[in-house]
Amino acid sequence: MSRVINFSAGPAVLPLEVLEQAKSELLDFRSSGMSVMEMSHRSALFLEVLKEAESNLRLLLGISDNYHVLFLQGGATAQFSALPMNLASAIPRAEYVDTGSWSSKAIKEASKFCDVNVVASGEEDGYKQIPDIADWHIREETAFLHICSNETIGGVQFKTFPSLGIPLVADMSSDILSRTIEVNEFGAIYAGAQKNIGPAGLAIVIVRKDLCGEARKETPSFLNYSVQAESDSMLNTPPTYTIYLAGLVFSWLLEKGGISVLEKENELKANTLYRAIDDGDFYSCPVDPEFRSNMNVPFRLNTEELEKLFLERAEENGMFNLKGHRSVGGMRASIYNAVPVSWVEELVSLMNDFENEYG
Ligand code: PMP
Repeated sequence: MSRVINFSAGPAVLPLEVLEQAKSELLDFRSSGMSVMEMSHRSALFLEVLKEAESNLRLLLGISDNYHVLFLQGGATAQFSALPMNLASAIPRAEYVDTGSWSSKAIKEASKFCDVNVVASGEEDGYKQIPDIADWHIREETAFLHICSNETIGGVQFKTFPSLGIPLVADMSSDILSRTIEVNEFGAIYAGAQKNIGPAGLAIVIVRKDLCGEARKETPSFLNYSVQAESDSMLNTPPTYTIYLAGLVFSWLLEKGGISVLEKENELKANTLYRAIDDGDFYSCPVDPEFRSNMNVPFRLNTEELEKLFLERAEENGMFNLKGHRSVGGMRASIYNAVPVSWVEELVSLMNDFENEYG
């Protein structure tokens, strides 16, 4: 078996231990004589899997009973629509902060369902930072404030969360479970699974119970939070195998000591990489240091030729998926929970060698 060093932004590398366990249980899960993929989602055994996944996620993030935890299909993108449909009904208005590609997409979708006010945008300065909260213009009568806690493409991350007296909703697709958070500070949190949770095909929604129940009439049932909560995320067939793998990832996180342990490791990885980028003027990172993501680290070289050469050299050394998103170019190292510190050290060593040769 040969596995590469994988810096993919998502779908991303999964912990090896999780894949090994899935492999060992692939054909015969808990002596059932079936794969999890092959059993009814209503079977006692799968219900156990779902229950374990939910309770372990509640444990990891300290989610209280005041919140529903939903396992839904359609990725984070479906939630761009589901959120305003569910939460901006009685008050059909919502506030959004624009910090890059993903918040822009959320804004575009939400505008189809409610009156969206973009309270601040980082677009003018090239999304290098989170706009200063003192300059946000929030309306009085509004349903919620939406942020993208970590912009996967641009590499901008909220380091603290605004508390402005209206429910805060966060797209945490690319940094959920990477650091400790106070769930009680949020009205809702949602995340596509394929970075820090498991394979693609699943979105997790953590939503305050009292905010649900008044969805817009036209909300499709499978996007209706109350309906999904009442049916334990099983209004229709859920992505059973993805939920099972997410559950394995949650157990893996608990075994590692929980999120605070991962948070320290993630800080170490990010600091190591940013230090290498900032050391000299051969590499550069477009994001202001104060707002740099601990999960997605974009960096550039002075010419596109050098960048192409760097990416080739990386692959020759077993390091893959370092190409920046097609909309921005350059390089991007995604260093989610399952990326070990040693991979980042290998990347830094490659960067140093490359600089010695071409700098
Ligand atoms: N939000 C963020 C921050 C993302 O990174 C992504 C996917 N890269 C999405 C939303 C969209 O997720 P999905 O593809 O699961 O719909």
